[in-house]
Amino acid sequence: MSAPFVEVDGITVRFGGLMAVNNLSFQVERGTIHALIGPNGAGKSTTFNCISRYYQPTAGRVRIDGLDVTHFRPSRMAGLGVARTFQNLELFGELSVRENVLLGCHAHSANTLGGLLRRPDGATRDLVDNLIERVGLTHDRETRANELDFGHQKLLEIARALALKPRLLLLDEPAAGLRNTDIENLDRLLTELAQRDGITVLLVEHVMQLVMSISNRITVMSFGEKLAEGTPKEIGENPKVIEAYLGK
Ligand code: ADP
Ligand code: MG
Repeated sequence: MSAPFVEVDGITVRFGGLMAVNNLSFQVERGTIHALIGPNGAGKSTTFNCISRYYQPTAGRVRIDGLDVTHFRPSRMAGLGVARTFQNLELFGELSVRENVLLGCHAHSANTLGGLLRRPDGATRDLVDNLIERVGLTHDRETRANELDFGHQKLLEIARALALKPRLLLLDEPAAGLRNTDIENLDRLLTELAQRDGITVLLVEHVMQLVMSISNRITVMSFGEKLAEGTPKEIGENPKVIEAYLGK
């Protein structure tokens, strides 16, 4: 069996007296879709921030493709092929869809940011157009990001993350605010990214229809700890999970 692509090994994150993540461990296999679910405040985004290195865990290790990245700077993560989106969007609102995706190409382009925007090379232009098409934004290619509705801004964030040519894609609540047709597109896109392109996808998501449809495995968090882990079927039938979501 191959080594897991992501290993979260006993991470703890404290904010003052609050234990946001408490000795959490889980592994994500290469080329699979793994979902992190749990009630609000469970520590899901904090866990993401540890993996993408925006936060430093108080204890524990994070390994990506066997490499201990626990003390890496966030800026090194792009070079390792780790791309992420944020729960609260971080787009360049005044720039077009096309320009936002172009800027995502910066990590593997020899061009400066300005050069990239003004005269991208042919291969970069093709990559950008292809990604825009894959997320279904072709008709909004020249639309300013801040003129898109929230759901389409989220799809744009995914296209921009893909422009990095990632090996690991971290998505924080990608389906929140999306219409059903956009969720269906997202379902197809993420499945294809894992199965065809071999990208490992780790997502935090509340939209259970999507989680249950696309995930190979699910880790459930509650109060900073791992409550359960398993296949969508196992998680759907787990009484502890049902209780955490529905209350007693
Ligand atoms: P989730 O994404 O599962 O909703 P979070 O990881 O955002 O949960 O938050 C877990 C807990 O940590 C919450 O109680 C939250 O208020 C707290 N928290 C998150 N980030 C910070 C921070 N930067 N400073 C202080 N507390 C934080
Ligand atoms: Mg969150």
